Amino acid sequence: GKAIGVFTSGGDSPGMNSAVRAVVRMGYFLGCHVYYIKEGYQGMVDGGDHIIEATWASSSGIMQLGGTVIGSARCKDFREREGRLQAAHNLVDNNITNLVVIGGDGSLTGANLFRVEWSSLLDELVKQGKITMDKRIRCSHLNIVGLVGSIDNDFCGTDMTIGTDTALHRIIESVDAISTTASSHQRCFIMEVMGRHCGYLALVAGLASEADWIFIPEWPPEAGWEDVMCRKLETERSLGQRLNILLIAEGAIDRQGRAITPDMIKEIITTRLKYDTRVTILGHVQRGGSPSAFDRLLGARMGAEAVLALMDATPNTPACVVSLDGNQTVRVPLMQCVERTQNVKSAMDKKDFEEAVRLRGKS
Ligand code: ATP
Repeated sequence: GKAIGVFTSGGDSPGMNSAVRAVVRMGYFLGCHVYYIKEGYQGMVDGGDHIIEATWASSSGIMQLGGTVIGSARCKDFREREGRLQAAHNLVDNNITNLVVIGGDGSLTGANLFRVEWSSLLDELVKQGKITMDKRIRCSHLNIVGLVGSIDNDFCGTDMTIGTDTALHRIIESVDAISTTASSHQRCFIMEVMGRHCGYLALVAGLASEADWIFIPEWPPEAGWEDVMCRKLETERSLGQRLNILLIAEGAIDRQGRAITPDMIKEIITTRLKYDTRVTILGHVQRGGSPSAFDRLLGARMGAEAVLALMDATPNTPACVVSLDGNQTVRVPLMQCVERTQNVKSAMDKKDFEEAVRLRGKS
């Protein structure tokens, strides 16, 4: 059977374990050997006991856990050819020529580069006497399938990334909890949620929790927004609401490109409206904890589909990402999605929001 390596890379997200589990189990079902590569690319570069064969039992009882039990890391070595040469050596030592990478756009970019370089890396290993010609021929092609794990839902080409739904649950639970205390004391709460380039979490959590006002990076408020916001809060109070909730995505900015911070909003509200106003920064709570049913199933479906895609791959098949289109898991070209995602980020950096929203498109 084929040998498949599975690893998680970049920021962790809830549901990654479910994807890892599905890769192991679908792999075994199809007669493959599946290997965990621990600590992302760092484990691939370091080799040794970072690359270990998965057993059925070792993938039990992990679906319920947040984060990633096989570890994740940011790895400088893999950005250098020398590191990738070392990684290629460790993979072929274990006869691994199929990879499932679970991570963000950076991790997928690295994987694609690795695939493009693969032949020349193996040639170099032969030249250095580190692998035999026979091995070189048996391992001549590297197949790669990507799964996107990110709570931000910031990847082009998929309707949902693994972890977003759980993060939304965590945010709305927190807003609900804060609402009860806010209401008791007639307070105003400003809550900062994650999302540097993408306001999805703030927008959807705001809609789902009756927030009064939302700031997202894609839609800087128009001049005079301070007055409009204060009037809106006053109106809510005059209609009998005892509290106000405002959500700010961490990357929110105004039309001049200046950061909109929770403290800045607090200052405006306390000065103008004299409401008792508090700030809560949710931070990494949003990334942790038990995955939602949706993310467990999303990870499971994507992990299984990733193995099927590897089985179908030929030397000429371009690397793909398994994505969600409506209710279907589909395979989309990896590099196209990565490029679109990176173009969205640079349009956001240039504050060209219309272009960013256009590039992001439907999914
Ligand atoms: P997140 O969405 O959490 O940021 P990510 O996968 O985009 O996840 P990165 O830190 O960008 O996170 O990438 C993770 C790792 O992938 C890097 O530490 C590096 O080892 C590898 N990587 C990223 N970009 C490249 C690249 N251009 N070439 C080689 N390796 C890369």
